Amino acid sequence: MTLSLGTDVLSPAPAATVRTRVTVPLEFADGYATTAEVLTFDGLADGREHLLLGLGDWRAALARSAAGGEAPLVRPHSECLTGDVFGSQRCDCGPQLREAAERITDAGGFLLYLRQEGRGIGLYAKLDAYALQDAGLDTYEANRALGRGEDERDYTAAVQMLAAVGADRVRLLSNNPDKAAQLELLGVAVTERVPTGVHLSAANARYLAVKRDHTQHTLDLPLAG
Ligand SMILES: [Zn+2]
Repeated sequence: MTLSLGTDVLSPAPAATVRTRVTVPLEFADGYATTAEVLTFDGLADGREHLLLGLGDWRAALARSAAGGEAPLVRPHSECLTGDVFGSQRCDCGPQLREAAERITDAGGFLLYLRQEGRGIGLYAKLDAYALQDAGLDTYEANRALGRGEDERDYTAAVQMLAAVGADRVRLLSNNPDKAAQLELLGVAVTERVPTGVHLSAANARYLAVKRDHTQHTLDLPLAG
């Protein structure tokens, strides 16, 4: 992978290579169906089993981008077992994943499924943090109370996967300004930030408000605070 070595760019990630490509038909709980080309990799920086899902006509999207046109739509989605698999109402990860699958299929691009549960602190620690939140801390305070960072996610592997498929510029499907900043620092050009919808429920209203207020997530919430 080639990265410019300007002062605002972190040291370049080593190149990862595609290990397997397999076609997987997907059908979500609400019946929405699409087909993913799922790629696995050798050489990812943290040694974890991250996935890249090519959705829609991603080859055409890459060709269009290479010709100077619109970049492929990309969402780096951090694994959330409780939200993605079990439909937990404590967060908005499941609906965001479902929305991303459809929007990326329509536009052509990539869903990066990143195995960094609980903003990188892991599944058990995330559940410990939920217990602290039930005692009154917010999601960021709870991580700190556990001696962990507010957000330990790292997008090096995401950038390696994008480089392996030739996506050096992306339209980023995310409300999180930190994701865009990290990708840019790692050498991926974010040509546009595309906000996701707001998936509000009674159980996640406080969580979403804290995300909005604490990290400047782009969330237009119909609630006071
Ligand atoms: Zn979640």
